[in-house]
Amino acid sequence: DAPAAGKACTRFDLEKETELRFEVEAGEAAEQVELELVTGMAEVFGSELNRNKKYTFGPGSKIAVFTWQGCSVSLYGKPEVAYVSKDTPMLLYLNTHAALEQMRKQAERDNERGPRVMVVGPTDVGKSTVCRLLLSYAVRVGRRPTLVELDVGQSGLTSCLAEVFSQRCEVNRKASVGGCIINTCGWVKGSGYQALVHCASAFQVDVVLVLDHERLYNELKRDLPHFVRVVLLPKSGGVVERSKECRREARDEKIREYFYGFRGMSYYPFSFEVRFSDVRIYKIGAPSIPDSCLPLGMSQDDTQLKLVPVTPGRDLTYHVLSVSSAEDGEDSARKGIVESPVCGFIVVTNVDTQTQVMKVLSPAPRPLPRHTLLIMDIRFMDMK
Ligand code: ADP
Repeated sequence: DAPAAGKACTRFDLEKETELRFEVEAGEAAEQVELELVTGMAEVFGSELNRNKKYTFGPGSKIAVFTWQGCSVSLYGKPEVAYVSKDTPMLLYLNTHAALEQMRKQAERDNERGPRVMVVGPTDVGKSTVCRLLLSYAVRVGRRPTLVELDVGQSGLTSCLAEVFSQRCEVNRKASVGGCIINTCGWVKGSGYQALVHCASAFQVDVVLVLDHERLYNELKRDLPHFVRVVLLPKSGGVVERSKECRREARDEKIREYFYGFRGMSYYPFSFEVRFSDVRIYKIGAPSIPDSCLPLGMSQDDTQLKLVPVTPGRDLTYHVLSVSSAEDGEDSARKGIVESPVCGFIVVTNVDTQTQVMKVLSPAPRPLPRHTLLIMDIRFMDMK
């Protein structure tokens, strides 16, 4: 616990079923804010707070401290905003948890599997927060639900994940009864919508929670089988819309944490050279072509998941690359790359086309554990 000495302290007394919302200023120079529960009971996104313990929140955090019974809390430091709201959908979220818990109990009794829940909605409606809340509540009553984070743009991969999850449920009864909570990205139109419908069937979901989007709710009710329960839930007024800029900063911060550590825990990443000839770099996904131009027997999914070899050049600089766990090897291994998990990430910090060498930042020392690298659009400029 960092000492809060010298920081301004503001005390808030919260009535039952209200929440204190606060935001910490974004940007690297911004000061952290500490939170302390002084009396009563409170939780942050479903995780219960310990009394008289200081919780630190870094730049850009947007937090709600909710209390079922009433409490008082202190904030140390200068939050950008801090206010108490009586208007929250927490009771509806708790009821949702209670309904899921009933389903788990029934699954336990009948030796069946627990609920598989998919949370959908546009960006910035609190999908991740609702997932976190439902997971925390489930864990607090002794369940072991699985969180599935889906980038639904790539439906082939998700089918694959669904299979892995089903296999796990077959061997692990607790995981099976706990069910899963699937978070999705905010893409809800056109092929994004198709991907959601695809995921719902791949994972055989029983419940779809639609956050704050009536049309999506109606469409899913129309297109999903009748035994799937589709529920419309309001978003919380506290959910803050994040600008592109803000999302980028949050992502940069996550990447920095990956390499350099967080919350007082420092990591010391390695920097070393990698010869072009020692690695194979691919991009996943060829540009999409109209259905009518696809070769016979090929679907749009095939192009989306196609591996395109990338010739290393200066434009690789600052790109984040994932190191695929696929076995090194020639064409036979290539097939497995898309389905293989990644072992970790590296960033290209410099490229020398003359000597055919690139310098990388890596969490582990050389040599790279595998030699198949996948490039993504994400870049990271290391300012340390
Ligand atoms: P989505 O997954 O739909 O994009 P998130 O769940 O990530 O949305 O929520 C967006 C932001 O709003 C997050 O920074 C989250 O911490 C914040 N947030 C969510 N609920 C509340 C609330 N009740 N009060 C204050 N901030 C909140």
